[in-house]
Amino acid sequence: MPEGVMKAWLESSHLSGNNSAYIEELYESYLDNAHSVSDEWREVFDSLPKVDGSSVEYRHSEIREEFKELAKQVGRQVIVSGGSDAKQVKVLQLINAFRFRGHQNANIDPLGLWQRDQVRDLQLSHHDLSDNDLNTEFNVGSFVAGQETMKLGDLHKALKNTYCGSIGAEYMHMTSTEEKRWIQQRLESIQSKAQLDTAQKEEILKGLIAADGLEKYLGAKFPGAKRFSLEGGDALVPMLKELIMRAGSHGTKEVVIGMAHRGRLNVLVNVLGKNPSVLFDEFAGKHDESLGSGDVKYHMGYSSDYVTEGGNVHLALAFNPSHLEIVNPVVMGSVRARLDRRGSSGDLVLPITIHGDSAIAGQGVVQETFNMSQARAFGVGGSVRIVVNNQVGFTTSNASDTRSGEYCTEIAKMVQAPILHVNSDDPEAVILATQIALDFRNTFKRDVVIDLVCYRRHGHNEADEPNATQPLMYQKIKKHPTPRQIYADKLAAEGSIAAAKAKELVDYYRKLLDEGQCTVEQWRPMSEHSVDWTPFIGHEWDDKYDNNISVDALKTLAEKVSSYPESHPVQSRVKKIYDDRKKMAAGERPLDWGMAETLAYAAILERGERVRITGQDSGRGTFFHRHAVLHNQDDASTYMPLQNLSDKQGPFEVHDSVLSEVSVLAFEYGYTTAEPNGLTIWEAQFGDFANCAQVVFDQFISSGEQKWGRLCGLTMLLPHGYEGQGPEHSSARLERFLQLCADHNMQVCIPSTPAQVFNMLRRQVVRPMRRPLIVMSPKSLLRHPLAVSSLEELSVGEYKNVIGEIDDINPKDVERVVFCSGKVYYELLEQRRKNEQKNVAIVRVEQLYPFPEKELAAELEQYQHVKQFVWCQEEPQNQGAWYCSQHHFRAAIPQGTYLTYAGRPASAAPAVGYMSVHVKQQKALVDDALNVE
Ligand code: AMP
Repeated sequence: MPEGVMKAWLESSHLSGNNSAYIEELYESYLDNAHSVSDEWREVFDSLPKVDGSSVEYRHSEIREEFKELAKQVGRQVIVSGGSDAKQVKVLQLINAFRFRGHQNANIDPLGLWQRDQVRDLQLSHHDLSDNDLNTEFNVGSFVAGQETMKLGDLHKALKNTYCGSIGAEYMHMTSTEEKRWIQQRLESIQSKAQLDTAQKEEILKGLIAADGLEKYLGAKFPGAKRFSLEGGDALVPMLKELIMRAGSHGTKEVVIGMAHRGRLNVLVNVLGKNPSVLFDEFAGKHDESLGSGDVKYHMGYSSDYVTEGGNVHLALAFNPSHLEIVNPVVMGSVRARLDRRGSSGDLVLPITIHGDSAIAGQGVVQETFNMSQARAFGVGGSVRIVVNNQVGFTTSNASDTRSGEYCTEIAKMVQAPILHVNSDDPEAVILATQIALDFRNTFKRDVVIDLVCYRRHGHNEADEPNATQPLMYQKIKKHPTPRQIYADKLAAEGSIAAAKAKELVDYYRKLLDEGQCTVEQWRPMSEHSVDWTPFIGHEWDDKYDNNISVDALKTLAEKVSSYPESHPVQSRVKKIYDDRKKMAAGERPLDWGMAETLAYAAILERGERVRITGQDSGRGTFFHRHAVLHNQDDASTYMPLQNLSDKQGPFEVHDSVLSEVSVLAFEYGYTTAEPNGLTIWEAQFGDFANCAQVVFDQFISSGEQKWGRLCGLTMLLPHGYEGQGPEHSSARLERFLQLCADHNMQVCIPSTPAQVFNMLRRQVVRPMRRPLIVMSPKSLLRHPLAVSSLEELSVGEYKNVIGEIDDINPKDVERVVFCSGKVYYELLEQRRKNEQKNVAIVRVEQLYPFPEKELAAELEQYQHVKQFVWCQEEPQNQGAWYCSQHHFRAAIPQGTYLTYAGRPASAAPAVGYMSVHVKQQKALVDDALNVE
């Protein structure tokens, strides 16, 4: 550094805007190499404090930001009344330290059990500042204090109030300066103190009274009954109400909430406005006759409306199985459907997810939903995520047992979400954190987390003995006053609400419960939800519906789906596929699978209905057959023929999803339980990958209608078929889906021709019934020369649950009937043709559930003389349809005849790993099936 410049700067005795940029550069050089700057400067920079316990400097970017902030204020004199330049830099460091680490010394644990070291960076001495500097004025840089300079003493106090009070704000991990500045503005300008009038305080008190009152009432009326009490986390009630009211006043039209069972009954009654008398009836064992199995009361969802300043808001609490955190992607999917319907990117619908402290850290699905939060297919404009942090996971009281990070919320940092830890015994701070969180979400359309640090007054449930495992914590809890008491005392002490008035409110709430009246003033009967489900309710499988489509209409669509602009060059193999499709459209080639499937989407879109497909490779198709998205080879732009059919068509979207199964499937389940119209497909890359989503199949897809009366028309394409690819890529685990089938809960189909896939997909939309459709979709059949159809076959409009013989076989000559599903049909057919056999008929069962008894019986009419019936499958005997479906076949065949099995022997693995063994097995099972005795 030129000595003259240094001297000039020192002599100027202030940090002007220009000089700050200069120092910044110097500091950068110093960080690269301490000896690249002069001794004087090295001394100044050496004296800057280091982060506790490490030699790493404060983030350089932060310091640079401070310098830049000063530099913006050109000509401003920043060091005054005796402060030295080096000290000024240290004051800025102090501010930074509070912003970074203030939360570590914040007062956020209501029980005061957290053992946290004093953070040295927050002390003046650490920055070479002392009591002697307390009265010195320093520039406060970007600290939002409403004044440019402050006495150090005042500044330090303001920093402590802002960052070490009841809110511990973690946000400096965010890289967006705009977002950081936004949070600083919100917190620093009011030193993290909520600005509330008496009416607002009374509203908070009412929320706490309600939370506390309901639990006490239930505890007295139904002693020992499980209610998963909210007590300790009572602030959740005023918090949720504030979120809803504020969202409504900002124009939100719907709020979808996901939460586990802790505090759920309280939220149902005191937030959503469920009538308490209904809840009491449930405690007394009464149940809703209209539901199949029904579910326990603390899993039930609820819908209602709220009146807010901005108009009515519809509320939906998602039904929730016991499985931790899995409801989050379901809520996101439900919100996305509602947003899509309203044509909104986030403003009109708000997702709120409520997490447990151990679950948010422990369950991988939380990471998956954070990862999805900004992805194109799954974004919902940000979620407000609340942790009800009762500092104990079931019986685990020690945080070191449940997580490895400092807080349970570390995972939120992966998407740079701000995290507001807040002491639940300070409900005003809770409300402030809530307002900031919602406004952040609405402003930046990103996720935000509120960590509501509270406790659990009772055990996991009310029959539990929590002091058996957490003696110290529960000694403390026993003596700890309730949140209602603490807040009522505070309001009385400050003179805003007298103790007598608080008592009146308690009595009034109790009266509402006694009279079985709704306890939520803002509650309104439902009118605001945006879709009508009634046309889809109460249908039977055999209801008639009109699904046919003319050949001419199909031809027109076929031309459209195979066209793309000449100016859009595509990859050569893709071009060949599209050239072939053009020939199919012109009637010069029979239709293959990809074309028929694409035509199904086109035909649905033409009806004005929407189509949404997600999966790990869905744009092109895992097996290169779909190519719904055409990638320009020159400029990488994309073109989708299915989006360019006509002005009146429905919206088409296909997304290559994030590389997850469980949360994507749960998201699509959420989507389809909120949107009955159109076709929604989740596609597994290989069928067995659906294993990773088993909880969604078990807890939601197969049982949601029985438990909760919620219909779902989701279609799942699961590639399945034995082609020698080894144990992991052969089976979609058909047996697992069949085992889940009962009460006509879902369909399991194995279409074997392009016409069948066309009609199956269209049927799913055209038929008003909304039930999940599980499809064993093909791999090698995608290109099998025999698996082709004509436009005429597509146009019949019927999915055939059973397909009888297609060859010229006289039923009278038949001695054996082979039943099968899927790709093995073609192997049987080819082998039989090779064998020139006329005594074997092959019957395809294209829908295994609901089992097509009538259709099969009709098909078997002509084979009543036959004695040998065989079920042929590719899967090992303990897998596939054999065990789950044989009783249906046995019931269908003539009395006195037997059903035998031709397939692989039972096996622990789904398939062998060696091609030669596979081929041998495959040949044996086909020969066995055709071998007439
Ligand atoms: P929501 O918008 O989810 O609060 O739902 C509002 C109302 O629509 C519910 O109370 C149900 O009557 C009906 N509804 C919502 N989703 C479904 C569904 N998946 N199946 C059947 N009815 C539904």
